[in-house]
Amino acid sequence: MSEESKTYDFQAEIQKVLDILINRLYKNREIFLRELISNAADALHRFRIVQLEQKEGILDPDQELAIQVSFDEDGNTLTITDSGVGMTYEEAVQNLGTIAQSGTLEFLEELDDTSDVANLIGQFGVGFYSAFIVATDVTVRSRSFTTESKGIEWRSKGTGKFTVTHYDKPTRGTDIILTMKDDAKEFLNKYKLETIIKKYSDFVGFPIRIGDEEKPVNRQTPIWHQPEDEVKDEEYNEFYRQVSMDFTEPFHRIRMNVDAPIQFKALLFIPSRRDRSMTSVQFQDYGLKLYSKKILIQEKAKDLLPEYLRFVFGVVDSEDLPLNVSREVIQVDRNIQRISKSITKKIIEELGKFTKEDEEKYLEWYEQFSVFLKEGIANDQKRREKLLELIRVKTSKSEDKPITLTKYVEGMPDEQEELLYLLGENLRSLKQSPHLEHYKKLDQEIILFDEPIDTFLMMHVTTFNEKPFKAIDQAEPEPPTESEDEKDEDEDKEEEKEKDPFLVGIKEILGNRVIDVRFTDALTDSPCRLLGQGAAAYSRMMRYMTEDYIPQAKIMELNTTHPIVVGLKKLFENDPESSLLRECCFQLLESQELAEGNLKDVNAMIARTTDFMKQLLE
Ligand code: ADP
Repeated sequence: MSEESKTYDFQAEIQKVLDILINRLYKNREIFLRELISNAADALHRFRIVQLEQKEGILDPDQELAIQVSFDEDGNTLTITDSGVGMTYEEAVQNLGTIAQSGTLEFLEELDDTSDVANLIGQFGVGFYSAFIVATDVTVRSRSFTTESKGIEWRSKGTGKFTVTHYDKPTRGTDIILTMKDDAKEFLNKYKLETIIKKYSDFVGFPIRIGDEEKPVNRQTPIWHQPEDEVKDEEYNEFYRQVSMDFTEPFHRIRMNVDAPIQFKALLFIPSRRDRSMTSVQFQDYGLKLYSKKILIQEKAKDLLPEYLRFVFGVVDSEDLPLNVSREVIQVDRNIQRISKSITKKIIEELGKFTKEDEEKYLEWYEQFSVFLKEGIANDQKRREKLLELIRVKTSKSEDKPITLTKYVEGMPDEQEELLYLLGENLRSLKQSPHLEHYKKLDQEIILFDEPIDTFLMMHVTTFNEKPFKAIDQAEPEPPTESEDEKDEDEDKEEEKEKDPFLVGIKEILGNRVIDVRFTDALTDSPCRLLGQGAAAYSRMMRYMTEDYIPQAKIMELNTTHPIVVGLKKLFENDPESSLLRECCFQLLESQELAEGNLKDVNAMIARTTDFMKQLLE
């Protein structure tokens, strides 16, 4: 570096970021210390990794990895010292003059008054600048970790410019020296500093000392390494807040301490509140923190859990993992796979246990998280049965309180062999569906699936406890015939001959809008119902996914005793060409399609009803 001392401009956004921080964080300004300590810990952590990779040319290799916070009341300064990686001249210019993440300013500007800036700044790579909330001057003295490095000094008043010069620093690491504002002298106090450090930085994995004191203020030992009952609930919750950024209490906490087949410790949290973004396909901000021997090796390890458990937060720490592993390696690592299997099993077990202890509370949770479990049922064949035990269903008899599938099965009469269900748009239209009438007569309960994901679910689920599921809006498959093909054809012909001319007439009118028209005695109150044939779930799925998907034609079944059907039959016998007959047939079909959310052309139907009204009034 030829220049002895050079002044630089901050990146334009920084000044604005500073203004926002100073304004918004005033009441909560003690967090500047958390941010600076977190940077120091980060630098120490990075040094630890350097040391693992490189043995030669390291400055002060034996120096303890620690953080010191010291203050000088007379000099009006507060200093945070670390023995971490330090910064070179270029790094200081680059790292302390620009914001690494683009979009940070826009984000900060958009935050409304209720947003918690204090808990967001760490995420946006602007933590360092929080020093200016309490300081008029910030001086950074740093020396990088190699023996050839030279020390530097960075100075700024936080007003648009900073200066960097060489500085003769004998030791590795960084000192951040704050000259405190007049109204921020309260921080030059041992007790005050101790309280703040304990509050925010208790589990920082390096000793933090105040002044020349021997004893570190913080506990260091990560919470998941402490005996389970020695950690207080508040401490667990505080930790949860740090990993999840969620400020509500977690729904459930799981600790694991496993020795075989692979050693690992885990501390996992199931949130009580679903973040809206979690269900989106684009949601990538998940994953557990993965540690090896207390060193963080991956911030968001996605391969530790199946994707459908992406709502789980926490840490996994294993002695049996290599330290410097890339994402690709983690993906195929057998040990990772073993851990993943073990924690997945545990989470599902714990949820199961929870349902036995407090079903009411579980239901509240379930309302928000059911879609994840259903996604799991669809995708995780191995754990399907276990996951099915965790789902709750509404039924034609359960009113609005969902029940377990086991309970549903227990309520099945002896002659009922299948779990009967109906998929639909919403509970109200499901409850009015003509398909239920037959089963009401038989006093059989029907599972009512009313969520979009249920369609997807039922594409994958065929049995529960070895009992098959059956959609009640589907036509029975043709009964197997003992006869040869030829004979079959004969029978078909015979049947056709016998077929009621009324049914033939209606089929002719409706053309390919229906597969067939027949009579049924399954209905009591409704004039007709529509039965699907084959892959009903598939066709419903397609409807969600493709806008102009044309639903498959269905079989129309008519209730012989219903006045409308009786009337139509009379009309047909008088005049098979009657236009009223024709319009009524379409109206009957389309009303049903509408109720099932399958009507393609609403306008045609509206025009027809208007016509009916006109005729009636005339
Ligand atoms: P973040 O830490 O989120 O990246 P900051 O604004 O807090 O954002 O810090 C900016 C950068 O400055 C850090 O990423 C790091 O490279 C560097 N830095 C800050 N403090 C230290 C330190 N004590 N030792 C070494 N580098 C540091």
